Amino acid sequence: MKIAVVGTGYVGLVTGTCFAEVGIDVTCIDIDQKKIDNLHKGILPIYEPGLEEMVSRNVSAGRLHFSTNLKEAIQDCDVAFIAVGTPPGEDGSADLKYVLAVARGIGESMNNYCVVVTKSTVPVGTAAKVRKELDDALAKRGAAIEFDVASNPEFLKEGAAIDDFLKPDRIVVGISSERAEEVMSRLYKPFLLNGHPIIFMDIPSAEMTKYAANSMLATKISFMNDIANLCEIMGADVNMVRKGIGSDARIGTKFIYPGIGYGGSCFPKDVKALIKTASENGYEMQVLKAVESVNDAQKEVLFDKVSKHFGGELAGKKFAVWGLSFKPKTDDMREAPSLVIIEKLLAEGSTVSAYDPVAMEEAKHSLGDRITYAKDPFEALVDADALLVVTEWPEFRSPSFEVVGKLLKDKVIFDGRNIYDPAELRALGFAYHCIGVKTAH
Ligand code: NAD
Repeated sequence: MKIAVVGTGYVGLVTGTCFAEVGIDVTCIDIDQKKIDNLHKGILPIYEPGLEEMVSRNVSAGRLHFSTNLKEAIQDCDVAFIAVGTPPGEDGSADLKYVLAVARGIGESMNNYCVVVTKSTVPVGTAAKVRKELDDALAKRGAAIEFDVASNPEFLKEGAAIDDFLKPDRIVVGISSERAEEVMSRLYKPFLLNGHPIIFMDIPSAEMTKYAANSMLATKISFMNDIANLCEIMGADVNMVRKGIGSDARIGTKFIYPGIGYGGSCFPKDVKALIKTASENGYEMQVLKAVESVNDAQKEVLFDKVSKHFGGELAGKKFAVWGLSFKPKTDDMREAPSLVIIEKLLAEGSTVSAYDPVAMEEAKHSLGDRITYAKDPFEALVDADALLVVTEWPEFRSPSFEVVGKLLKDKVIFDGRNIYDPAELRALGFAYHCIGVKTAH
């Protein structure tokens, strides 16, 4: 099979590389010439564990190509994936201009039957718009080429994207013809061998599935954060409550960790877009509105604890921040809670010294030289008035607290991810603040 993947970001690059890994001929296309030039030199635009080796292996094998030339790449393709961004527009709805521009480009270029698949996260009804762009572009050329549209939302998690793609919990494909179903079955066959299911459905249901999945996950997070905040007020320990409820199989242990709010490129924008889709269609997503407002407030919880601890006197204080990316194992800074916390500290006249294993370059795009970037976690601590743990990278989990205590001016830790043992830290003389547990001294 021969496929094209348009948009070579987190999703497109992983998708294209994983299809190449199972022997398919893949061209990844992007409009960003620099991105493509770098990929030709083996420089990846993103950090994703294991991806660099996999890209290089498949490029060497001649199965994975990079190009800015959509027209050339689309020739003789069986499947063309659209994997460009769908950022929130000003009103919160998903901005489809990139998706529709690519659809038009495919229509202007295709030379044979092809399944045009939306992999980007797009609202219900988008496939119909994609179909119209293709129809219009083909009509303009006077070309009578058959095609199908399909929706194949992506569920990969940044930081574990390759495993998620190669061993998916499920593959969801929305189709409206048997021919498209046959092509998509053939394409995904190598990924199904170990019992990973493919679920075919109508296109609107596939489009909705992605939003429903992300909204459910965001709901779990906001629910636990709400419970955590109440635990703290009432003198309960949310870590115990989490274990207590998680052992009920109907609830489950996953994704019920309290923290400092969800971020990233997906949950915030997808929750917003679903609320917007509903309101445009005369329905109010009451639960999701609450999910969003709990999350906005939760991003400020760690700062509030810092402010309270220091009696609101933050001017001239220095804070060490461990972790900048919105979650571990990625360099993605989009909507990261770290940005909210750091901006608030800076606004109070504090200084910040941060360390992140991979996201510091990305962070510079928004924070620039307004903070300092340490070369290791310990350098960030030197003369700091407190440590804030913002992203739970594995390397922060078990530091030498003796060294941490010596480097900090004051033995104070604000743990936004509940990765330390309150009793241990208290015994070591730290003032320890975490989420959903009354812990300070
Ligand atoms: P991204 O911003 O990392 O990548 C998008 C790429 O598309 C960029 O490289 C951009 O240059 C390119 N592009 C834009 N217009 C183009 C055009 N006309 N032709 C060719 N290339 C073009 O975005 P992403 O994180 O990969 O997300 C892509 C989509 O997948 C979004 O809809 C997102 O919601 C969805 N998604 C993302 C994730 C994730 O974890 N990042 C997971 C599942 C789904």
